[in-house]
Amino acid sequence: MGYLSFDPWLQVSGGTFTETSPEEMKQVLNEADIAWHAWRTVPLNKRLGNLLTLGAYLTSNRDELAAVMASEMGKPVRQGLAEIDKCVLLCGYYAEHAEQMLEPEKMDSSARESRIYYEPQGIILGVMPWNFPFWQVFRFIVPTLAGGNGALLKHASNVPQCALAIEKAVVASGFPPGLFRSLFPSHKQVNELIASPLVRGVSLTGSSEAGAEIASVAGRNLKKVVMELGGSDPFIVFPDADIERAVDAAVFSRFQNCGQSCIAAKRFIVHEEIYALFKGLFLSKVAALRVGDPLDITTDVGPMASVYAADDLERQINDTIALGAVLLCGGRNRSAGPAVFNPAVVENILITSPLACEEVFGPVAALFSFRTYEEAVEMANGTPFGLGAAVWTADESTATKVAREIDAGTVAVNGFVKSEPGLPFGGVKESGFGRELSAQGLHEFLNIKTVSTF
Ligand code: NAP
Repeated sequence: MGYLSFDPWLQVSGGTFTETSPEEMKQVLNEADIAWHAWRTVPLNKRLGNLLTLGAYLTSNRDELAAVMASEMGKPVRQGLAEIDKCVLLCGYYAEHAEQMLEPEKMDSSARESRIYYEPQGIILGVMPWNFPFWQVFRFIVPTLAGGNGALLKHASNVPQCALAIEKAVVASGFPPGLFRSLFPSHKQVNELIASPLVRGVSLTGSSEAGAEIASVAGRNLKKVVMELGGSDPFIVFPDADIERAVDAAVFSRFQNCGQSCIAAKRFIVHEEIYALFKGLFLSKVAALRVGDPLDITTDVGPMASVYAADDLERQINDTIALGAVLLCGGRNRSAGPAVFNPAVVENILITSPLACEEVFGPVAALFSFRTYEEAVEMANGTPFGLGAAVWTADESTATKVAREIDAGTVAVNGFVKSEPGLPFGGVKESGFGRELSAQGLHEFLNIKTVSTF
């Protein structure tokens, strides 16, 4: 395995990056250990001030950072700029709210006085994916550093330049040397890092397969983990919904980032009475999406992140069609490039086929119809995943009932699932456990210490 920057649109290499040597790994760990011990004593307002500096750095360099994402994983620059802006928002959110979230809390107990304190624990390792190469990492490092911990990053092997750009941003924002580092370890070295007594926890955002491996290593070493894994989010539309708005949200949610989003709406479960209407509108909006060069500001859908990802998606579609499904539009577009996939829509899908039960990580929408409320909920819950879900209806009690009956970490009513700094984010079932963002995310890797005075 190696770290390779490769432009999926131009199909040219941006360079290979040498794996971190065992000696360097040891040195980085020791430096991070020294750095976080000093960092935890830095007054909180100074720590939070660094977050604002980091946000300002991102703002001043947003064009360059969006271009790095475009060249390494094909994200259209318009979406890359929005991703950087969201990271800035996150820095500002914790700069404003972390003090209150870290305040000691008085608790009722049998003692004369009991308080809980939120204390840092050490170095936290982040293992991160390529699909939102800044947002996923910032969602991990901002609360980690705000809470007084140190952080090491193992980014996905296809986005090494994003990893280095993030390290540069943190260093330029006045955080102490060594407190945060981007490393290029092999999977074996990741296991060694998890086993190190200096590393106190692991946050993984990635596939359920990677989650199972990393969680088992962490379990053997008794390390705390947060797992943000795959998803196959349902998007349920009842007949009384605002169909125009639902279709707009559906198309945006499914096709942004070339469909490579954990919380993209992936299975559209539409009542049979409005199925034809929904399908017609959906197809016309999909036809209007502009596929092309990610550096072009007008592009809606860039290439997929790699040819392997496009191969995998093509296999899922072909296997589903072999079981009787119908491809209504889109598909692999080799004439535009080996990683290019035109937005596709598929219907008549057998519920045992890949588009119904596997995570579909690319620009393909799967349409299903339902007759009864129970059928819709059963279909929505019918995968091993439980990340997000959307429900569209004008009836509040139906919306609440569905929201409560769906196995998911987040439910959007008359909207689409997105993450935002002030709301806990995470999944259930094979989509993972633990939460990021909000106070819950900040507390995940802190020692919640109880002190009772009798
Ligand atoms: P991935 O292949 O699971 O990789 C994620 C990260 O884990 C990468 O850094 C990868 O490194 C590393 N990794 C994988 N197996 C490992 C192992 N055995 N030991 C050590 N490190 C390992 O996922 P991806 O393709 O980058 O990202 C797409 C997946 O992430 C999708 O399933 C998506 O749904 C999920 N995701 C979830 C969320 C969420 O919040 N729930 C958000 C975004 C993405 P290498 O690149 O070196 O293999």
